[in-house]
Amino acid sequence: MKIFNPATGALIAEVSEDSTASVRAKVARARAAQPAWAALPLKKRIDIIRVFRTRITEMMETLARTLTLEVGKPIRQSRNELNGLLGRIDFFIAEAPRVLREERVHTDRKSKLEERISHEALGVIANISAWNYPYFVGGNVFVPALIAGNAVLYKPSEYATLTGLHIAAMLYQAGVPTDVFIPVVGGAAAGAALLRQAVDGVFFTGSYATGAKVGAAAGRRMAKVQLELGGKDPIYVCDDVDVKSAAESIADGAFYNTGQSCCSVERVYVHEKIHDAFVKAFVEEVKRFKIGDPLDDATYIGPLTRRPQLDVLRRQVADAKRKGARLLAGGGIIKGKGSWFEPTVFSGVDHTMALMKDESFGPIIGIQQVANDAEAIALMNDTEYGLTAGVYTVDEKRARRILAQVHSGSVYWNCCDRVSPRLPWSGVGHSGIGVTLGTSGIETFTRPKAWHLRGN
Ligand code: NAD
Repeated sequence: MKIFNPATGALIAEVSEDSTASVRAKVARARAAQPAWAALPLKKRIDIIRVFRTRITEMMETLARTLTLEVGKPIRQSRNELNGLLGRIDFFIAEAPRVLREERVHTDRKSKLEERISHEALGVIANISAWNYPYFVGGNVFVPALIAGNAVLYKPSEYATLTGLHIAAMLYQAGVPTDVFIPVVGGAAAGAALLRQAVDGVFFTGSYATGAKVGAAAGRRMAKVQLELGGKDPIYVCDDVDVKSAAESIADGAFYNTGQSCCSVERVYVHEKIHDAFVKAFVEEVKRFKIGDPLDDATYIGPLTRRPQLDVLRRQVADAKRKGARLLAGGGIIKGKGSWFEPTVFSGVDHTMALMKDESFGPIIGIQQVANDAEAIALMNDTEYGLTAGVYTVDEKRARRILAQVHSGSVYWNCCDRVSPRLPWSGVGHSGIGVTLGTSGIETFTRPKAWHLRGN
């Protein structure tokens, strides 16, 4: 499998892809190794993950560079991602002992009955991951899964393979046995081969289209399945905000990681009283973004990781223009080597346009004027997705009233494009099923065993 730098189109590596036979052999190795890993004291597994954390800090610059080379993420954002992973590991290490502890839930001295719950590892899990935040979306799964005693078949995205191999090497250096965490290299075929094996859980991050196939395959096997999928994340800007600071914050939420985040702001609704002022401030902010070599510290906008996405964006632009939207910035492919698209802003959009309904996953945004809160809420809820949604207003009560009516896994007041290790991460509708992060994101890698114990 050839790996290209999306910024230049240059070939940077060749790796050999897994076949169905090699995937089968890997699952068998993991199956054999998992019981001994689960039998280690929890403290021992946590100590190993702590060493993995140290390895990340020691390797930081090499890891950031590799990530930037293979996915095109601007280097400062690569470092941010790695530092963010450290915080998540800290959370898992701190919380796992409490979450995984066996609990006594009932005692009846008279009948000498005791009821307890223990948390057993699922066994062997498949972790099929995305490329846009490989350390985050991977780490949300394999770190707590390993701590809980699972063996992990980790299939990085074919666009983040080198990062996946770095992760494996660091886990081994930390003391994770080579049969307990095993990378599976390849694209759709390798992922599909993994799903044909008898795994106990499937933890997938990616698009809705792939997630639907993955869910169906896992369902047939009766494996536990979690799907973290896309979003069409809306923001509503009320009439009482400081327009300039709201515009700065929302532009960052829309264009950070070149708009390739599951929780990127994908559409903006603005109260009619401040609409024009907001649009002006927003466009000024977007025009300031530095586009350039992702290895340069000053760069904010890099290339798109996947070349086919250029066509998706081009089609959304053409559709919006044809239906009467106003193009205020960008609008086209940046010619030359690599896969580049201009930061693009439209106003005068509506929900007949693909730009406002389908995931864009790139540096493009539509801003729509609304008359009141009720109209904003109706529009925010008018997609198949429900990952994140936010409101900007000085009035907390108003924000809470609006956000309570929005169908979304995460909601934001005066912030956006934000993930916290302490809070559960989940989606509604086409954004997925299951939870990572938070304490639920540790428990999810276990199955509760119910103990009914009657003494003599
Ligand atoms: P994708 O669906 O193209 O691929 C995801 C993974 O699935 C890759 O590893 C790929 O090789 C594998 N795959 C592809 N076809 C498969 C098949 N038939 N069987 C098994 N595996 C298969 O998604 P992507 O382009 O890597 O990621 C972008 C998408 O991920 C966006 O929609 C984004 O919103 C979403 N995402 C969601 C979250 C979240 O937390 N909800 C986080 C990051 C990304």
